[in-house]
Amino acid sequence: MNRSLTIILIVAILSLAWWRLQPTEEASRRTRLLMGTVVEIIAEGQNADLAINKAFAEMERLDRLLSRHKKNSEVSQLSARVKGVKISAETAAVINMGLAVADDSDGAFDMTLGRLKNLWALDTTEPTIPSPQEIKAALSDGGPGALRVDGLKLRKQSPELQVDLGGIAKGYIVDRAASVLKEHGIANAAINAGGDMYLLGQKTGRPWRIGIQNPRASETVLDTVHVSNLAVVTSGDYERFFEQDGIRYHHIFDPRSGMPARGCRSVTIIADSVALGDALATAVFVLGPEKGLRLLEKYPQAAGLVVAADGSLHESPGWENYREEQ
Ligand code: AMP
Ligand code: MG
Repeated sequence: MNRSLTIILIVAILSLAWWRLQPTEEASRRTRLLMGTVVEIIAEGQNADLAINKAFAEMERLDRLLSRHKKNSEVSQLSARVKGVKISAETAAVINMGLAVADDSDGAFDMTLGRLKNLWALDTTEPTIPSPQEIKAALSDGGPGALRVDGLKLRKQSPELQVDLGGIAKGYIVDRAASVLKEHGIANAAINAGGDMYLLGQKTGRPWRIGIQNPRASETVLDTVHVSNLAVVTSGDYERFFEQDGIRYHHIFDPRSGMPARGCRSVTIIADSVALGDALATAVFVLGPEKGLRLLEKYPQAAGLVVAADGSLHESPGWENYREEQ
């Protein structure tokens, strides 16, 4: 090898080593109120501020499409129409994903609970326990088959049916935000939208460490997982609830009874997409620990940890792979 080539090689190797020893760039961290929750994005890289702005803008755009609280959203338009409406490919994708989980969970995941949700009014300052008659009426036109997607046409079986994508839309929106960050060259980032998380790449050279909150003691952690390029999504009975006569009434409903589902305190799903994790967390919550974990057997790309109503912990076989070694 000639001498100058050797010198160039040594310089190259040394500069590489120097670069590797540099502390990682400061991460940018920003929050915004979106989709009724605080969304936090942490991203590393030169382009991070711009990328985060773009990701927030994308989340706002999709929220305008999918929220039932926005009058002109496609979801609101559908609820106002008698039979159906033409929808965008994105809305169709979310609903199709939700319908697949609805099918696999025998209807435990149900995107036709809009009227029931209004009745309970858990989003307001005056939530109420509806009467059995009111619940029966609100459930009368929903359930499997009440909502169908035909290409870009969404059809509903009954004029009164109100669509609610609250159990899946946030996940889909976080997936899109992660894609925007990647499109802007970001390799390492975390997005957290009130328990719907996506962890891109690594944090200072290691997989992201995520603590799973104890649903009855927000400051304590039940378990810790290591994840990279994965979603971690939690559904819990502590997110939105009120108590009356010592009973907790929360926002995840069993479509068979119209009452808050009673089998779990929280469900955390690790999955390859936030949308899937979101829908599965809600579905497993409704099904309870045994049936819920059986549902996860249909999804090899997902793992779950369930805190049952009695406080006991149940995990799917795949969960172990992510657990931090003690
Ligand atoms: P999550 O926090 O993802 O479990 O979603 C809870 C939200 O999903 C609620 O606020 C409702 O908008 C909606 N939801 C409640 N019960 C169900 C259900 N059984 N299937 C699908 N979505 C539901
Ligand atoms: Mg969900």
